[in-house]
Amino acid sequence: MTPVEALERAIYLLDRELAPSNKVRAFKNAQDAIAELGPDETAKRAKAGTITEVDGIGKSTGAVITEAIHGIDDGYLAKLDDRSQVPLGVGGELRAQLKGDCHMHSTWSDGGAPLETMARTAQKIGHEYVVATDHSARLTIAHGLSEERLVQQLDELEALNKAFSPFRILAGMEVDIFEDGTLDLADDMLARLDVVVASVHSKLKMPAADMTRRMVTAVANPHVDILGHMTNRKVSGTGRAPSEFNAEMVFAACKKFDTAVEINCRPERQDPPEELLELAVGWDCYIAIDTDAHAPGQMEWQAYGCDKAVRCGVDPDRIINTWSAEELLAWTTEKST
Ligand SMILES: [Zn+2]
Ligand SMILES: [Zn+2]
Repeated sequence: MTPVEALERAIYLLDRELAPSNKVRAFKNAQDAIAELGPDETAKRAKAGTITEVDGIGKSTGAVITEAIHGIDDGYLAKLDDRSQVPLGVGGELRAQLKGDCHMHSTWSDGGAPLETMARTAQKIGHEYVVATDHSARLTIAHGLSEERLVQQLDELEALNKAFSPFRILAGMEVDIFEDGTLDLADDMLARLDVVVASVHSKLKMPAADMTRRMVTAVANPHVDILGHMTNRKVSGTGRAPSEFNAEMVFAACKKFDTAVEINCRPERQDPPEELLELAVGWDCYIAIDTDAHAPGQMEWQAYGCDKAVRCGVDPDRIINTWSAEELLAWTTEKST
């Protein structure tokens, strides 16, 4: 492994363990620093023990570079790999049945890697397809896509799909649900997308009756395929209480309008909680197991959602990403017409 590859791998693993962003940034800075230094000077300094004297290279990043130069395979990187493993529990068999991931972000919005890198990672972990679901325009904090930029992204997708075939990158978006349940994207654009995830990102504390109406209205929209991170709870850090709504009504709507309930695998979200997922199973709702990855390493998080799905008795046939891309597309097309 070259120092460039070792730093890349370290970033992947740090994202996999949801390391703080300043830590990830330190490794990205080190990448820039050695790119400027060049391979020969990097090797020379690593061997001489003076690599950390270079601006932008610290103790940990210096260790990873030095290990790469000396071919050490039981150092910082090995420990990080070990520590960041995503354990496969009861959901192991189900994980093997998943053919794609329907929710992830790229540098088109607030993701940390280009679409191409995200697609390559999805391919590497064994998927047949991935859906590009960057944020819609209203989420300015996440650099959400305007209609114009979405059209540009669709062009990029077309080119990438030629290069990646038979692996497929499906066109999608994580569309913001407005307070009245309407969506942050025009109907004609929604119709151009293969898979639409709709999520609530604002006014999370609105009264339950209003939130129920808001979610049901979105779920009933024929263009919406998946209801993203439904409670919006955060279970780590300072945490965030789940939004309040009538879950029976929301699941009844998901069942009626064939909108899948997302199991969001992000460790800080773990949404929905198990009692809600069991309720969704009772309503025989479709389910999507999504990572909501914002970096390549996070695409391995599906294992968490698989464990939860098995614990809650979800039928694999009802999980839309156990289907092939063709089956998924046939389903989304049929329900939006
Ligand atoms: Zn979201
Ligand atoms: Zn998302």
